[in-house]
Amino acid sequence: MSNCAIVGINWGDEGKGRMVDLLTEHYDVVVRYQGGGNAGHTVINEHGTFALHLLPSGIFRNGVVNILGNGVALDPENLWTEIQSVMDQGVSITPENLKISDRASLLLPWHRDLDELEENRLRNKKFGSTKQGIAPFYSDKYQKKTILAGELFYPDEFKKHLLDLMEWKNLTLTNVYHAPAYTMNMLDQWIIEFCDKIKPFICDTGAFLKDAQREGKNILFEAQLGSLRDLDYGIFPYTTSSNTIAAYAPIGSGLPSANISDVVGVVKAYSTCVGEGPFVCELFGDEAEALRKAGFEYGAKTGRPRRVGPIDLVATRYGVEVQAATEIALTKLDVLSYMERIPVCTQYLLGGEPTDRFPFPAALDHAKPIIEYMPGWNCDISSIRNWNDLPTEAKDYVTFIEKAIDCPISYVSVGPERDSIIIRK
Ligand code: GDP
Repeated sequence: MSNCAIVGINWGDEGKGRMVDLLTEHYDVVVRYQGGGNAGHTVINEHGTFALHLLPSGIFRNGVVNILGNGVALDPENLWTEIQSVMDQGVSITPENLKISDRASLLLPWHRDLDELEENRLRNKKFGSTKQGIAPFYSDKYQKKTILAGELFYPDEFKKHLLDLMEWKNLTLTNVYHAPAYTMNMLDQWIIEFCDKIKPFICDTGAFLKDAQREGKNILFEAQLGSLRDLDYGIFPYTTSSNTIAAYAPIGSGLPSANISDVVGVVKAYSTCVGEGPFVCELFGDEAEALRKAGFEYGAKTGRPRRVGPIDLVATRYGVEVQAATEIALTKLDVLSYMERIPVCTQYLLGGEPTDRFPFPAALDHAKPIIEYMPGWNCDISSIRNWNDLPTEAKDYVTFIEKAIDCPISYVSVGPERDSIIIRK
């Protein structure tokens, strides 16, 4: 049996979905352990192109059981819409290959409203939320003001619980934000349209995972976003509201006894960042536009142009540490093929001194990138499948990163398709 977590090392959008889609070949179970529908994993395979938000990326493999663990923000409306859209593209989704933890908390309709109302209140001080209700959801979860998915099996208690929460939340909606109140009629509609639809998928996934562990099955833990967005270890307050790091996988998946032997950290060959917050190595102007276009860096959920920059070795080294990554998948190397010379952020300048250490979040605004340049390879590498066939400059770029972050790069991805990969082990 082997357990593996696939996690983002940087700000998210590193290409985790494409790595999970590739590696599920070796796994029996894929579990999402945190986050909600606020980001997207793009997967391209024989079924087509998919932007997954909540569904685990193992959903395309026959025989793989996909689980949404207790740590996710379970939005019945988003999930049901996503299930239907993926099924419309010919993928079978049944209670056999998708199981939802009965201990996952439900993201309630007002969470999305509150996200939007608060971002509007903040105006130009906003955080760049995707307005999917994630922050209000997690704060309510920790206040014990959400409902567990399994409560749907106890309809009378469920309704009463929901009514209590609605009365409580209406106080904030109407008195603080002067927004309309919810009524039970509105919530009845939400139950019928979405909750009842996902109910057949809800079960005791903790028991399922424990059995799978006992039977020696291989389990893959799939993260959303990256180290720098982790609530405790990221660039707070520009983080997400959950723990994105691999150490949280046993808790958020429903298998607290999981021993994760392999942590595959996904690193993009350059940097991107969505939303607000410090981004030390950010490029601007034509240089940024060229990289954004080459990498098609527009958000999978929002379509927003992503902020771009050279690979940031200071942030990446920190990301590798907090993820306790055992190996690295370096993605999108092909995107850099157009560059004559490739910028690399090797250190930060902070208080006039160069530093290798990722600073405390509030100090990031004062950090400046120290940039070195490496020679480009200036040819198309997207059809290369063997390490030795890569141009020397490309190999040098990869090994330079590997040395700087002190973690073996086992996979080099040269295209979005499942087989556009160079395996180095
Ligand atoms: P995730 O959230 O970490 O799964 O990342 P996203 O799906 O948001 O972003 C990764 C994007 O890059 C997707 O559009 C992928 O199809 C694409 N992608 C992944 N790996 C590669 C690669 O090696 N080369 C290229 N050109 N695109 C890639």
